[in-house]
Amino acid sequence: MIIGLCFISNLAGMGLKMGKHIYGCAINELEEYFLGINEKKYRAIQTYEWLYQKKVFSFDEMTNIKHDLREALKKDFKIKTINLIRVQKGSDVAKYLYELKDKNTIEAVLMKHSYGNSLCISTQVGCNIGCLFCESGRLKKVRNLLPGEMVEQIIMAEEEVHEKISHVVLMGIGEPFDNYENVVKFLKIINHHKSLNIGTRHITLSTAGVVPRINDFANEEGQVNLAISLHAPNNEIRNKIMPINKSYNIEKLLEACKNYIKRTNRRITFEYILLDGINDSDDCAVELSKRLKGINCYVNLIPYNEASNTVFKKSGKAVILRFYDILKKNKINVTIRKEFGGQIDAACGQLRADNR
Ligand code: SAH
Repeated sequence: MIIGLCFISNLAGMGLKMGKHIYGCAINELEEYFLGINEKKYRAIQTYEWLYQKKVFSFDEMTNIKHDLREALKKDFKIKTINLIRVQKGSDVAKYLYELKDKNTIEAVLMKHSYGNSLCISTQVGCNIGCLFCESGRLKKVRNLLPGEMVEQIIMAEEEVHEKISHVVLMGIGEPFDNYENVVKFLKIINHHKSLNIGTRHITLSTAGVVPRINDFANEEGQVNLAISLHAPNNEIRNKIMPINKSYNIEKLLEACKNYIKRTNRRITFEYILLDGINDSDDCAVELSKRLKGINCYVNLIPYNEASNTVFKKSGKAVILRFYDILKKNKINVTIRKEFGGQIDAACGQLRADNR
């Protein structure tokens, strides 16, 4: 009983007087809940199966759970908290606009690859990182998304597309490492074999480089792919386009990355947007190669998606290829990111939380 009471008081602490968001519950929390109301632990797995495999949106449909218990669940939990209010479709891409309970809006993008469906989700309403080239940061952070609100972006997308989402990337609106606890919990929930069962190797988290959180993340269980928004070979350029570099400069960032690789034995991806005349010269490519020499990583070169409010321009195709060649020649693993979603403003850095 005591466990149950703690649980309920936690709910109140989270400001969810109307019941806790069930998609935000890790399996152990649901087990504690059931034990707390003198029920068997296995009810948690049953509930997960209804939510994630049979995909029901009401407790009444959970027919192998007895009536009294369904009533208790109805009282203590809510299932759906976000609404899909707009879908825009391109050939291999769809952009979803979701409205949250408090009427804030966020976006997610579905990309159809040969290997499966990948969903790019948002982690915050707005963003405080302030990268000069990025549209998503125009609205300052309003609040962090809760774990269940991140899970629900996937659930709603699966419902809309009638297919499984096999891969998740945390590259939508927000800085995942500015919402660390909620993001880590979200990853644990979607990775559970009775929930969405999305393998850690199918999940990529991208950070602008919040060094202390990279260090924390190295100590978490179940490593997902880590991508770092580097975008410059030196502090001079990075300071100009990413204000976060003034808090955590390239030396500190790469040190944290090396520690991360050492600790986890995982390779890191460095994202590098090519911006015309800013960071795309041959010298930049050589300098970047030197910086990354000996680090177990690969570089993902990103053709810039031009945003309406920035002065930045995309590098030409030939420049991108030359940059790529220089990295290759210097034995850096490098790929050029496939461009997705430009025609519906669904590409990286084009997502907005302010629902024009
Ligand atoms: N805050 C995190 C995740 C969100 S951005 C981060 O900074 O990594 C996801 C990726 O898209 C980042 O690498 C970001 O720098 C990149 N991006 C932002 N604006 C872009 C644009 N207009 N074109 C291409 N990539 C962009």
